[in-house]
Amino acid sequence: MAVPNHLRLTQSRMPAYARDNLASLPQRPGRSQHTLGRSVTCHGVGFVTGGRVELSLHPAAPDFGVAFQRLDCPGTPPVPATRASVLPRQRRTAIGRNGVVIELIEHVLAALAGLQIDNCLVTLNAPEPPGFDGSCRPVVEAILEAGRIDQGVPRPCLIIDRVMSVGTAEKQITLRPLAQPGLAISYHLDYGPDSPIRPQNRTFLANPTDFATHIAGCRTFVLDSEVEALQNQGLGQGLTHQDLLVFGQDGPIDNHLLFPDECARHKILDCIGDFALLGADLWGHIDACRSGHTDNHDATAAILQHCHVAPVAAHAA
Ligand SMILES: [Zn+2]
Repeated sequence: MAVPNHLRLTQSRMPAYARDNLASLPQRPGRSQHTLGRSVTCHGVGFVTGGRVELSLHPAAPDFGVAFQRLDCPGTPPVPATRASVLPRQRRTAIGRNGVVIELIEHVLAALAGLQIDNCLVTLNAPEPPGFDGSCRPVVEAILEAGRIDQGVPRPCLIIDRVMSVGTAEKQITLRPLAQPGLAISYHLDYGPDSPIRPQNRTFLANPTDFATHIAGCRTFVLDSEVEALQNQGLGQGLTHQDLLVFGQDGPIDNHLLFPDECARHKILDCIGDFALLGADLWGHIDACRSGHTDNHDATAAILQHCHVAPVAAHAA
């Protein structure tokens, strides 16, 4: 069956402003920091609370980074989206400071990082962003509508200059140097021969155009058999089979895949969001096998411990 039109994200369907904005984006590190051209707002239902959420993205000064501010907690400062703010969670990424917590930030972070928006204040009126359709496509479209401003200040870039691994024999991330500037992410998905999700591999060379076209629309997924356990944790109350991909034994229930390897692509989207917590571009290869958010956070901790920031002049475009 054909993929429903509302789930497609292709260059040809993008409005002209989106194509123009993408065409002007740099494709390699050694770039300057960027923020949004203006504030933009999106709405949707939160996956944890089930409530309607308003999320706004605002321009921010150079070196501000990305921070989330809860407008439903008046008087509280923005929580920086950095590795130091990460809270322990299963199957998602949350940040918090002084009791102010924001859950499920990874898809918003992926949209910003994927389009190389470095400085942005994210405001929201709930403890989580909208879940949308399980992808970050609506946030990407809002960013493209707002446009990008070159702030003329160099963006730091961390260099992976040695092989490092985190995880276990079952699931791991190996970080490797790359000869050329840039970031490559490989994801190897394999849930075994009995899983309705077939083994799949995808490698993505990070650049904004390909991110918007091939990664941003890929949705989060869950097995039908896992739904009850997740709902017992308070996740996904009131969600339907159209709000994310729910796999039964014969594939997605009441839904369709955008790509045969949409699940691996979504895992790459999650990596882009989680590695954005570094607050710098990354030069190297992230080779991820069956890994999840906890492994991503272990990997970013290893990078911050062992890797150095590239001198600006050494990799300037
Ligand atoms: Zn995800």
